Amino acid sequence: MNTKVVKIECPQKPRDEELLEGARLLREGGLVAFPTETVYGLGANALDEEAARKIYEAKGRPSDNPLIAHVSSMEEVYPLVSRVSDPAKKLMAAFWPGPMTLIFPKSDLVPYGTTGGLDTVAVRMPSDPVANRLIALAGVPVAAPSANTSGRPSPTTAQHVLQDMDGKIEMIIDGGAVGIGVESTIVDVSVDVPTVLRPGAITMEMLKAVLGEVQIDPAILGPMSADVRPKAPGMKYKHYAPKADLTLVEPADGDMESADSLERMTRKVRQLAEEKLAEGFRVGIICTDESRGQYSNGLVRSIGSRKKRETVAHNLYGLLREFDDLKADYIFSESFPQDHLGQAIMNRLSKAAGYHIVKV
Ligand code: AMP
Ligand code: MG
Repeated sequence: MNTKVVKIECPQKPRDEELLEGARLLREGGLVAFPTETVYGLGANALDEEAARKIYEAKGRPSDNPLIAHVSSMEEVYPLVSRVSDPAKKLMAAFWPGPMTLIFPKSDLVPYGTTGGLDTVAVRMPSDPVANRLIALAGVPVAAPSANTSGRPSPTTAQHVLQDMDGKIEMIIDGGAVGIGVESTIVDVSVDVPTVLRPGAITMEMLKAVLGEVQIDPAILGPMSADVRPKAPGMKYKHYAPKADLTLVEPADGDMESADSLERMTRKVRQLAEEKLAEGFRVGIICTDESRGQYSNGLVRSIGSRKKRETVAHNLYGLLREFDDLKADYIFSESFPQDHLGQAIMNRLSKAAGYHIVKV
């Protein structure tokens, strides 16, 4: 199949003529990748089981890993769900459109092929103008997992999507680099106490400010033992992985504010990198704008600024892909505090590292 790339002239203000063909393809059961404010999504009609099946095939995604249905307005939510709880209403009012996915009990309209056999459905209303208008023009809810091959880092540019999906999907809509860079926060509002299943740019602190009480699925906080079943089936798969062996270095006391703990962390990253360089391997180092000067050997890349954590989220997946392109054998990375956006950053980095974390 020939994958058509459509470049949007001004992604903040897309014209309908630029999106109509993609919208038609979606409505008719095709696959169209498009930008959202989080990462690029691989879209298909969420009500069409056969279209959903094609998503799993293009991504190589296990079929029990459910898809998120994307909508463009509040009215489009109600036909998909059988109950909207009070906490759900509060979250929708506070954070939609935006980078938050909610899990509801599903209505009969949503096929099990979209929900991986579950009686719940994940719904999100993206704020990205291209995504929002494309979904509105399609006139159907759009199932859209990240547009990467399963197991690879999520795509944050159309170029990343092309690397993984060229020849496998009908169209890629190029709206430039995404804003946030990590996937949406997932909150289960089908249960009594809303529970975060995946951290993202809508942080725990922001959710608590709106709801008061919020729980967090234990699967987010560390490696899962075999007997724990994660509530988001996708959490059990190895995700976000670069090809290299990635190790995180973290201060043992969890303190990342003091000069002393930052110094211990950078010294350890340097030492581990030097050991592998001496053995003749290609070694990547993930540092920050603040620590860049501390490293001289290896493939040294800054992931962003400790003072502006949104830059770290924004660059994370692109950097992991860059190390793939550079054919790194090993990557050593500094760590980040677990509050605010740091929780999402460390969740993705820890999973990419297979929870291989060295404490100093
Ligand atoms: P992605 O589409 O790549 O952003 O991944 C979607 C994530 O949402 C996966 O981790 C899924 O397991 C999770 N998810 C989707 N639908 C549900 C659902 N009904 N219940 C729980 N988790 C879900
Ligand atoms: Mg994904």
